[in-house]
Order: sequence, then structure tokens, then C-alpha cells
Amino acid sequence: VLHIEHITKKYEDHTVLNDVNLTVHQGEVIVIIGPSGCGKSTLLRCINALEPIQGGEIRLEDKKIEAGSKELAAIRQKIGMVFQSYELFPHLTVLDNILLAPMKVQKRSREEVKKEALTLLDRVGLKDRADSYPRQLSGGQKQRVAIVRALCMHPEILLFDEVTAALDPEMVREVLDVMLDLASQGRTMLIVTHEMSFAKAVADRVIFLDGGKIAEEATPKEFFEHPKTERAKQFLNMFT
Ligand code: ATP
Ligand code: MG
Repeated sequence: VLHIEHITKKYEDHTVLNDVNLTVHQGEVIVIIGPSGCGKSTLLRCINALEPIQGGEIRLEDKKIEAGSKELAAIRQKIGMVFQSYELFPHLTVLDNILLAPMKVQKRSREEVKKEALTLLDRVGLKDRADSYPRQLSGGQKQRVAIVRALCMHPEILLFDEVTAALDPEMVREVLDVMLDLASQGRTMLIVTHEMSFAKAVADRVIFLDGGKIAEEATPKEFFEHPKTERAKQFLNMFT
């Protein structure tokens, strides 16, 4: 589905990603972990062309993703992104937040998207919150709305950047459970998280990013039980 080939990302003379290669297959769940500042968010932002890259190539379904290209808007619709900070519109209800892009960007009918939105809201336990405003919701509820909003665009791949990092501990579980549910439905996902037991449970593959490179790439069992590099061992020790 997604091909990341030899990409390099620099902020002025600071190289954040240095020759990173990664292929994500249909239905695969990849978890990216690594120390703060190693470039996890930058990598996700490059995939969405929110950041230009200085070398290499990113393709989704064989369409090149690049800032400034004519096809970018169409390709971006196929990439769902969920951030730590929800990014819901405060003046719109839950339902209108979800309907906005499918109606405006994809020109779908309100009735059609509404039906889908209500089904998905039900699935994440929020059927009765469609008419609420974001301020009336808990962080965990807002994050589940943000996930439904991404799903309603029918993305090929979902990118999650530390979506539980800003949540109170009791709300983390409900969001992680939604992501586990998506994984079990065969969604293609790229997840950045610091929740190690979740990573172990959800990942088909774990990528450990360090020093601008993929330092390790392994099954969760291999990675968590037998990390190969000293850096990964040190990193994992912080969580035990
Ligand atoms: P965290 O776990 O703390 O979220 P991260 O792995 O997501 O970290 P990034 O946010 O991708 O890290 O940042 C990677 C590096 O790029 C950091 O050194 C950061 O300071 C730098 N950086 C990020 N955004 C910018 C920017 N807009 N301009 C300049 N430097 C940036
Ligand atoms: Mg980050």
C-alpha cells in the first residue's frame, strides 16, 4: 500500500530522517517507537506531505506523494490522520465535525455519510453523542470522534500520532480498544505510541527509530523480548 524509499528530511542543516525505508502492506499494523525527538511525528507528517522531503520518494498505491503536486489533495483523502490534540472544530457538533470533509471534499450526500457516521459512532460507544459539542466531551470521547471522522473518509491507511498521550489514564484504554478493533478489521495502520503493552498487542511489525534511521525492525515478540541494539534495550528499560 505505502512505499517509503530512501527518504531524507532535514530542518535546515539538522537531518531528522536519514535514508529511511519502509513498506506497509495491505492490512498491516506497524508501530513506530523511539526516543523523543527521533523523528516519529516528522515521518508521519512526511507521509501526508505536511512536510516536504529533501530526498527519496513516498508512494501510496503507486501514486507519488509530494508537496505541491496536483494529485496531492486526492491522495491525502486516502490517508487518515489522528493527532494527539484531536483537532475537532469547537463550533460544530460531533456529527457535523464528522460530516464536514466527506460532504465538502468528497461531495457525498449528507444522508449517506450521516448513516455511516452514526454506525461508526455506535461502534465506538458514542451513538448518543452525535449532537454534542466537543467541549461537552471527555478527552477519550473526543479522540474516538476524531477516529470516526478519519474513518468516514474511507482512508486506505490510518496514521496515529500518540493519540493517547494527552489523555487521563482512565481514558487511554477506551481509545486503545477502538484501535485494536480497527486492527482486527484488517485496517492498514501506522501507529506512533509510547504504550508498550498496546504496541505488543496490536503490531504486526515494530519499527524502532533512532538517530534518523530505522535501527530495528522486528515482530513485536522479537523486539520486546530480544531487542538487538543497545539503544533499544535502554529505551525499553525506561518502561519496565
Ligand atoms: P516525540 O516523541 O517527542 O513526539 P518525535 O519522535 O515525534 O518526538 P519529531 O517531532 O518528529 O520527534 O521531531 C524530530 C526532530 O525534528 C526534533 O529534533 C525536533 O526538534 C525537530 N523538529 C520538528 N519539527 C521541527 C520544525 N518545524 N522545525 C525545526 N525542527 C523541527
Ligand atoms: Mg512526536
